[in-house]
Amino acid sequence: MARNTAARNEAQRVLLEVGITEPPVRLSILADYYVFKIEMEDWPEKYEGKLERDNRIIRVNRNHFRAKQRFTIAHEFGHYFLHRTGDFFDDGQQDRKRDQEKEANAFAAELLMPYEWVRHDYETITDPNELARKYEVSKQAMWYCLMELNLIR
Ligand SMILES: [Zn+2]
Repeated sequence: MARNTAARNEAQRVLLEVGITEPPVRLSILADYYVFKIEMEDWPEKYEGKLERDNRIIRVNRNHFRAKQRFTIAHEFGHYFLHRTGDFFDDGQQDRKRDQEKEANAFAAELLMPYEWVRHDYETITDPNELARKYEVSKQAMWYCLMELNLIR
């Protein structure tokens, strides 16, 4: 839990640094700011994304739906900011580094759906699907966020 707090804090720091203040978080702005290229790859379904740190490239599966791609890109940025060395290939078997994967997921969740923004928006938008559209995340991801905030059960 404490590790996830650190990951979430780091995502907030990044949003602040780049100057992103509202949803949907534009990952292209983030990529430009940190001089990263995002490349779409024609990969098998199980491959999600890859961080090539020194090449400053994040690769993502072009065959996944957009909201999933966004979460993957945010996840790879999580590896970049939280795990300071090496490349990461999320190839569907990444449970061997489970803590790092959880941290990257917490970073991605906070980057795309900061708790504070969602809590605020939920005061006027209580339909999870509408919130998902507003944040350009999957319905599943938004449901999970709302559950974590104890707003739905
Ligand atoms: Zn990963």
